[in-house]
Amino acid sequence: MKAVAVFPGTHEVRVIDQPQPPVVKGTEVLLRMREVGICGTDREIASFQYGDPPPGEDHLIIGHEALGEVAAVGPGVTKLRPGDLVIPSVRRPCLHAECLACRAGRQDFCVTGDFRERGIKQTHGFLTELTVEEESNLTLVPPDLAEVAVLTEPLTIAAKAVQQVKTLQQRLPWEPSRQRAVILGAGPVGLLGAMTMVAHNFETYVYSREPQSSDRADLVRSFGAGYVSGEDTAPEDLGKKLGNIDLFYEAVGNAQLAFTALEALGPNGLFIFTGIPPLGAPTKLPADQLMRNIVLENQLVFGTVNASRSAYALALRLLGQCMALFPDSVRRLITAHRSIDEAPGMLLRRTGIKEVVRLAWN
Ligand SMILES: [Zn+2]
Ligand SMILES: [Zn+2]
Repeated sequence: MKAVAVFPGTHEVRVIDQPQPPVVKGTEVLLRMREVGICGTDREIASFQYGDPPPGEDHLIIGHEALGEVAAVGPGVTKLRPGDLVIPSVRRPCLHAECLACRAGRQDFCVTGDFRERGIKQTHGFLTELTVEEESNLTLVPPDLAEVAVLTEPLTIAAKAVQQVKTLQQRLPWEPSRQRAVILGAGPVGLLGAMTMVAHNFETYVYSREPQSSDRADLVRSFGAGYVSGEDTAPEDLGKKLGNIDLFYEAVGNAQLAFTALEALGPNGLFIFTGIPPLGAPTKLPADQLMRNIVLENQLVFGTVNASRSAYALALRLLGQCMALFPDSVRRLITAHRSIDEAPGMLLRRTGIKEVVRLAWN
């Protein structure tokens, strides 16, 4: 059975041969992996910036953006049957009794940092032909979403963010009407964020460096968002160009860009960080002005990472909404399907928007 693994000790990334998983027991589910999406996190693991093998092992099987098909179920499984399509979640709780987040099943808010993540941290991932997962970590996929369901895990970022926005804006003593959202970045996370905002009836713009004539800009316009190019607008001028900005959704991982754009956030606005910048030299910022704005305009700045089980269900509902509203735009996010043997090469270079490894497909 094939899998794709990184070997941090020897800096290798290759297809390996693995024994088949043992017969499932209890509430375990045997999954035949259908598709695994590749993202920036995978490329960082494949360039050995992080990624931890399970304790005592020399390699980590990667892959966390997965779509699987139930191949067999343990005797304790109650809701899934062979043939069902499922999305596995990624993060597993830490074991500390005092971590109230993990004890409440919200390991996305883990306070100890001792969580594990499949394909990233101390647990093998899903870029393998067969794997075993607990039923409680799996979310059922409606069959009509199969062709794009591999986008669910990256979509959970936006699904969780929107859920947080709704909760946080309950601080306003009125019901906000149509609000304006600006997405920073036109990569997969940014585009899925933009689709999410459009589906939630925000007046949505994507700000990115590609020119107005680019394919990315065209894709953005195809689902009803506006496109603003960094070529003709500076980030601090976004408010002047678009009008009051109620929400920024950052999906670039560039602190200079993000904090410059923060200057353009409107009163009572929200700024959501999802990108993780590489650590470099200190960035120069107009910190006094930013702090003044945050206080005098009741602004809220927050980060969001990972997702809970509920965000997977939300993301699938959102994916269904997006497929009803602009199906061709959603399909355009997946720019290539490749075989498992091509996966190590895919990890070394980025092409297109979302590249997907197809392991099995009927
Ligand atoms: Zn990812
Ligand atoms: Zn925890």
